[in-house]
Amino acid sequence: MAAHVIDGEALAAELRENVEASFGDVVEAGVRPGLATVLVGDDYSAQAYERRLRRLAEELGCHYASEVLAPDIEEADAFAVIGKLNADPRVSGILILRPLPKQVSEGHIYRTLDPLKDVEAVHPDNAGLLALGQPRFVPSTPASVFFMLDRYVEDSGRDPKTFYNGLDLVLVGRSNNVGKPALWLGLARNATVVSCHAYTSQAGRLPDHMLRADILVVAAGVPGIVTGEIVKEGVIAIDVGINAVKDEETGKTRIVGDLDFESVAAKAEAISPVPGGVGPITDVWLLRNTIEAARYRARL
Ligand code: NAD
Repeated sequence: MAAHVIDGEALAAELRENVEASFGDVVEAGVRPGLATVLVGDDYSAQAYERRLRRLAEELGCHYASEVLAPDIEEADAFAVIGKLNADPRVSGILILRPLPKQVSEGHIYRTLDPLKDVEAVHPDNAGLLALGQPRFVPSTPASVFFMLDRYVEDSGRDPKTFYNGLDLVLVGRSNNVGKPALWLGLARNATVVSCHAYTSQAGRLPDHMLRADILVVAAGVPGIVTGEIVKEGVIAIDVGINAVKDEETGKTRIVGDLDFESVAAKAEAISPVPGGVGPITDVWLLRNTIEAARYRARL
């Protein structure tokens, strides 16, 4: 079987058109959405993400503010920055970039966000609403995974409203920003959801779960952790992983996903590539949430 390779760039471009239209509506109603990012330290990937968001926000015409904080900042000083952004009427959405240094606890800093500006749904209020199936914001990465899946299902002539009913959806990775929210989104679609993580691998049980999966979403940050040998014929496989690896022959660094692309593609019905898969959609989704946040604030 030759897998269909899902084109994340094309889906991102389509989503961007919708986002531009919705931006236009909000601005017409007298509100200018604004995004603020908070970067602590100088992590290379976080800096690259910040630059992409800045470019996208500016292209759309959003207000954009970036706070770059020293890696040794005291937790209380980081909280004060969030407090300032919460109070800034130009800012409708706030993104705290990961990783954070040890002295700034994710759990603590997320609680300081104004829940109406928490566009990644990391504040307990928003994480709780998502778990209850009543999301205020759907975090951008898992939202992009299901945007991609729903579109693929629809384009291949099936109904995304019923397609997932009872199917085995297996997730690899249970982080608060990707794996756990993906679990809630899968349950909301009536899938039978299995959450695998590092301990599943340590126990040698990953292949057992992989082989059952009708739909596979892999977000472990481990290059090639899922190979064709451990997936079922006809699986729909979505790769969230972004890993920089050094090519042994050329010495150059390249970006790869968590799926062993060639061997999984040989058995899959559909597969998303890295790069050019989930990543480009995620950036646009965050701006989408920022515009939604501006709408809530203005009660539009
Ligand atoms: P994380 O480090 O917070 O979590 C990783 C998860 O994978 C953990 O739950 C861990 O238990 C699990 N894991 C690690 N090793 C494993 C193994 N050997 N077997 C099974 N499970 C294992 O990472 P994250 O923030 O969730 O990101 C995961 C990956 O997704 C990374 O590669 C990251 O770069 C990528 N990512 C991509 C996007 C995007 O837009 N495409 C967005 C966010 C993260």
